[in-house]
Amino acid sequence: MELSWGMGIDIALAEQLVEDGYRRSGVRDASAVLLPGQLIRLRYGVDSIAIVSGFEWKASVTRVGRGRVFSVSDALSVLERRFCLSHELAHVVCEEAGFTGPNLEEMCDYIGAAFQTRLKPFSRRARELGANFRQLALDFGTTESWAALRFGEVTRHPLALVAPKTVRVRGRVWEWGTVDEVRRMAVHGARGLAKANLSDDPTRIALLATG
Ligand SMILES: [Zn+2]
Repeated sequence: MELSWGMGIDIALAEQLVEDGYRRSGVRDASAVLLPGQLIRLRYGVDSIAIVSGFEWKASVTRVGRGRVFSVSDALSVLERRFCLSHELAHVVCEEAGFTGPNLEEMCDYIGAAFQTRLKPFSRRARELGANFRQLALDFGTTESWAALRFGEVTRHPLALVAPKTVRVRGRVWEWGTVDEVRRMAVHGARGLAKANLSDDPTRIALLATG
């Protein structure tokens, strides 16, 4: 299977929409990093998030008067809830920017992940720590997979995240080969590649080009 590169979205626009989201929540400090729940409550009030039991979706957002109400399933873990709320907030900022199109879901996944790993502060911390996904995850309240992918995005360092069902690559173009080849490298290692096990998910491996 061929590896698919990038996410087919306009990254510069996505990063701009993340900043728009902060601005619309009234956050002026460019180095501040807030949880999606904080961004939502700052903007729409303390009652704007409902945690719903037996919810048929992971999360949703609906218009109520001039505000919005975000609903999220109580069956999700805290980190999943965060990501799903963030994804729904991304839908709002995309709508406000008039962004539609076949890549809307990919766009909202990217923006949703980036709210909590905002470009400037995450880049600064990634420069300080290097590829220390555990510490980045602790600092930004994410999973280590989330931190690893974001590390590849902001540093452009070639990185592959190998999970049981998916292989995702980030960073500069690099000779990864096919999906099967990346999976083999994750098992056996390869010259010019460092392998990082993710302590919060032993089924996943991050590969980082060193050459
Ligand atoms: Zn969506």
